[in-house]
Amino acid sequence: MDNRIEEELRIALDQRDRNIKELSYLMYFSCLMNDEMQEDSLYKRMSWALKEHFEPDILAIATIDMEKNRLDVPLIDPPMPVSELISEDILTNPSHCDILRTGKEHIVTDIRYEPVCKCVAHMLQEGGYACIPLMVGGIPIGMILLIKKQGCCWEEKQMQKLLMVCVGLASSALYRVRLLEYSKHAAITDALTGIYNRRFFDEMLGKQIALSGRNKEPLSIVIADIDNFKKLNDVYGHIIGDRALQYVAQMMENCIRSSDILARYGGEEFVIIMPATNTINAMEKAEQIRQCVESIKLETESGVETLSLTISAGIATFPAHGIDGNMVVMAADKALLLAKERGKNTVMTS
Ligand code: GH3
Ligand code: MG
Ligand code: MG
Repeated sequence: MDNRIEEELRIALDQRDRNIKELSYLMYFSCLMNDEMQEDSLYKRMSWALKEHFEPDILAIATIDMEKNRLDVPLIDPPMPVSELISEDILTNPSHCDILRTGKEHIVTDIRYEPVCKCVAHMLQEGGYACIPLMVGGIPIGMILLIKKQGCCWEEKQMQKLLMVCVGLASSALYRVRLLEYSKHAAITDALTGIYNRRFFDEMLGKQIALSGRNKEPLSIVIADIDNFKKLNDVYGHIIGDRALQYVAQMMENCIRSSDILARYGGEEFVIIMPATNTINAMEKAEQIRQCVESIKLETESGVETLSLTISAGIATFPAHGIDGNMVVMAADKALLLAKERGKNTVMTS
C-alpha cells in the first residue's frame, strides 16, 4: 500500500470513529432532554451535556419572557452577574438582539477578525463564541451562548452542525416541558380569575383535612357568595360581571395567608381553605374580606357610574362542624344561606 492510500484510509477511519462518537453523544443528549419534566432542571441538563462535549469556558441560557418583553437568563456557568455577560439594552429589549430577532445563529470563530455582538463584546479579548437560537415553530424563544477563549475554536463545520442539532433538541425539550407546565396549571386554574378552580379545591380539601387530623389542628373553610350578582349582570352586562369576579378574587387573594387556598367554587361563589384556623379566627378573616370587598369601586363601561359590591359568607370548621370535607362544606353552605336570610353582606357560622 503506498503512503497516499494509507493516509486516505487513516483519514476515513478517523472520520468513521468521530461519526460514531458524535452519534452516540447525540443519542445521549436526546435521552437527557427527553426524560426531563421541569424547566429549571432541564436548563441544568442542557448546560451539563453541552459542556461535556463542546467544553466552552462560559455557557449561558437565555429565554424571552413574552409577557414582560424581557430576556431572562436562568443559567450562566460559571456563575456571574448577568450584566457582565449581556448588555442591559438586550435584556430589556430582546428584539435588539439579531439572533433573537431573526432566529439565525451567530458563530464567530475568532473575534479579532469578525464582527462581535454587543452581548459579548465587553468580555472577550480573544477566542470565539457560538450563539444559537432556541426555536419553536420557526420562532426564537431564547438562545444558548457558548464562549471559548481560545481562537478559531468554532471553525469546524461538523462541530457547528452538531451544536445546532443539539440546540434544536434542547428547544423541543423546552417547548414540551413548558407545554406540560402550562397544561398542569390550566387544569387547576380558573381562566377568568386566575385563582384555583373547583377541581383543585376538591382535591386539596381532603388532603388538608387529613393533614389537620394528623396534626390535631382545626381547619376552617369560608364560602363567600357575591350578593345580587344576577342583577349586576342583567343591568350592566356580563363584561362588568366578569370584571367584578376578577376584582373580588384579587381582593381575597390579597387578604389571605400564603398557606390558605382560595378557589372559585362556582359562578359567583368563592371558597377558602384555612388550615390551622379555628372558627373565631376564620370569622375575623372573613369579616375583614367582607369589608375589603365593600370598598371595591367598580367602574361601569361608560365610566360614569361606580358600583359597589358586597358578599355574604358562611364559615365551618373541621372537626367541630364535620369530620370530613363534604360535611364541612355542607355546614359552610348552610351558614351562607343563613347569612343571605339575615339580609346579605354579612358573615355567619352554623
Ligand atoms: P344572591 O344575592 O342570593 O346570591 O343572588 P345572586 O343574584 O347573586 O345569585 P343568583 O344565583 O341568582 O345569580 C348568580 C348569577 O351569576 C347568575 C349567573 O348568570 C352569574 N354568573 C355565573 N357565572 C358567571 C360568570 O362567569 N360571569 C358572569 N358575568 N356572570 C356569571
Ligand atoms: Mg350571589
Ligand atoms: Mg351563588
